[in-house]
Amino acid sequence: KNILGIESSCDDTGVAIVNSDREILANIVISQTKEHALYQGVVPEIAARSHLQNLEKALQSALTESQLTLTKIDAVAATSGPGLIGGVIVGSMFGRTIASVLKKPFIAVNHLEGHALTARLTGDIEYPYLLLLVSGGHSQFIAVQSFSKYKILGQTIDDSVGETFDKVAKMMNLPFPGGPEIEKRAKLGDPHKYILPRPIINQVGCNMSFSGLKTAMRLLIMKLPCLGDQEINDLAASFQYVIGEILSIKMQNSIIMYETFMREVQLKLKTFVISGGVAANNYLQTTLQQQAAKLGYEFVVPPGKLCTDNAAMIAYAGLERLQNNYLSPLNFCPRARWSLEEL
Ligand code: ATP
Ligand code: FE
Repeated sequence: KNILGIESSCDDTGVAIVNSDREILANIVISQTKEHALYQGVVPEIAARSHLQNLEKALQSALTESQLTLTKIDAVAATSGPGLIGGVIVGSMFGRTIASVLKKPFIAVNHLEGHALTARLTGDIEYPYLLLLVSGGHSQFIAVQSFSKYKILGQTIDDSVGETFDKVAKMMNLPFPGGPEIEKRAKLGDPHKYILPRPIINQVGCNMSFSGLKTAMRLLIMKLPCLGDQEINDLAASFQYVIGEILSIKMQNSIIMYETFMREVQLKLKTFVISGGVAANNYLQTTLQQQAAKLGYEFVVPPGKLCTDNAAMIAYAGLERLQNNYLSPLNFCPRARWSLEEL
């Protein structure tokens, strides 16, 4: 079976085709970075209009790349929340229209479930596993019991990690999106140059907080006599280092919570997965990998291109739902907010 996936919840327009053998036959992402760069952040109205323009193009490219025609599509899966609602409506409507014309099943996919299941698209990962979802809008430790069955063990109480990266990058006048820029700069800097706070680090559990770190960065930058390349590199390195520390410590706490939560289940395999845009960060990958090894967990991270937003993960989440007969009505109402626990 061939599943058509559609993604439009933020600033990337994605159309992909994944088959039931988990082969990615096409994975088209049209990025809107240029359109939003001027504003140093995603403008929802511009994003929605761009998705409308780009979806048709992305669909044609996906069909060309996969050498398929629309008639060979067996189901359509579209991100139907959470996210910037304008874009979500555009993509979900696009998907429902295609499904309706083809008379094929439609699956309303939760964008976060796409991120959560990506590791199963790219590797042989069995349920259950412990997931750190770190993206532009979310930072959560999640017990993934099966598709559609999630327990959030802890999460950020304020900003997400991706948002913190982006905001801190903006303070240093780095181009949007800031995450990859900070990673690049950090490679050239001294991670121990600046000592930064680690909010609620000693709190039990695995909730996280990043807004105090963001404020500390702002104050530090304001006090610097000059913000040249070396300062930016050192700030980026110190910032990325402390993010790694916070996530490592909270990862340890999340494992305790996970094992308590799963006590009734025999955990044959202990797997820790990271996904979401921030999971594309090589430094954080290495840091968390080392921590996972210490704690006796196998560490899994999907390829970078599938950590950031894409439609292959949406098609794959759709595939798991299709295989289990979890279909959606064509009048499914797109949702701006939609927790994994509500699936
Ligand atoms: P959500 O998935 O929560 O709805 P989103 O879809 O906007 O949010 P993603 O596309 O999954 O988020 O991730 C984007 C975020 O990942 C941005 O904040 C970006 O800065 C961050 N990011 C991407 N690459 C890196 C990197 N190499 N290092 C750090 N952060 C990164
Ligand atoms: Fe995302």
